[in-house]
Amino acid sequence: MSRRYNFCAGPATLPTEVLEQAQQEMLDWQGRGLSVMEMSHRSDDFQAIARDAENDLRELLAVPDHYRVLFVQGGATAQFSALPLNLMGRSAKADYLNTGLWSSKAIIEARRFGKVNIVADGHPASCYTISAEDAWQVSEDAAYFHYTPNETIGGFEVHDIPSFSTAPLVADMSSTLLSKPLDVERFGVIYAGAQKNIGPAGLTLVIVREDLLDQAQSVVPRTMCYRLIADNDSMLNTPPTYAWYLAGLVFKWLKKQGGLGVMAEFNQRKAQKLYTAIDSSGFYSNPVDVRYRSRMNVPFVLADGECNDAFLAGAEERGLLNLKGHRSVGGMRASIYNAVPEAAVDALVDYMNEFERQYG
Ligand SMILES: *Cc1c(COP(=O)(O)O)cnc(C)c1O
Repeated sequence: MSRRYNFCAGPATLPTEVLEQAQQEMLDWQGRGLSVMEMSHRSDDFQAIARDAENDLRELLAVPDHYRVLFVQGGATAQFSALPLNLMGRSAKADYLNTGLWSSKAIIEARRFGKVNIVADGHPASCYTISAEDAWQVSEDAAYFHYTPNETIGGFEVHDIPSFSTAPLVADMSSTLLSKPLDVERFGVIYAGAQKNIGPAGLTLVIVREDLLDQAQSVVPRTMCYRLIADNDSMLNTPPTYAWYLAGLVFKWLKKQGGLGVMAEFNQRKAQKLYTAIDSSGFYSNPVDVRYRSRMNVPFVLADGECNDAFLAGAEERGLLNLKGHRSVGGMRASIYNAVPEAAVDALVDYMNEFERQYG
């Protein structure tokens, strides 16, 4: 058995060390004679696993004490509706920045609950640039301001935290959380599905400022209510225990790497290598305004789309998996999250050069 280089956008590759530890502990967690999967979520052992994971996450992101961390199910998509239900009530209106497919999905959902003001609009799925922040149409009475710092499909990343709105800032960080240090205090709510850069699918993280736990003005399903989830330490009902445990192992792995500052440099280096290879070739291109290029998801197209299948087949032969772009964008996409080693990017760049020599 050998592990290949996996560039999947999500569910994405996990650190091999983490999977090895999970494998060792699979049948018998720390001598207890059972798997974490088989434990009661109310048991002391699982409570310790859960608390450890939260503490490590808080340490990695320096989450201030007046924020709660929720471990929930339903993915980022469930949070598209949990958010307006919990926060939109006050003015029945929220501001949304549209930078691509995931922003627009959040917008579609929010419109079912209230008025959505689009502060600036990129074209869905293929947003290449966006107007400067001082040109955004920010409302004065929005209950919150929502944006998607990293568009996983379009490879569009807003690197600077927006600062023009006075409403609580809410971010879908599904594909960027833990890729670099973050000033959590700038945000009201941060949420992220785990399967990109955090752990396996099934777990969603929500980081909420305490004063926003009680803003719901309407009926909120219990499993989506920030206040109820927080008051029950994310155990209002059975949480995704195994995914929670695995995310905890990933947090420990991140601490061992040196924390998010180290990860940021590492991710920057990988992205730089890949964009340099794309920009210096006459065969590959990436259409995104360089100021907004993603460090996590790098889409690129071949000059001759007829070569796409040959490119993918050759990549697979070399152990470079899941490079096919999202169906709405086409071409290729390399997702280079924390767990993707630099050697994977080097192997991809070598292959791209070789392919260009043959087909370019
Ligand atoms: C993957 C992704 C989603 C959807 O996540 P689910 O867990 O499938 O609901 C939403 N937003 C972003 C930015 C994503 O990358």
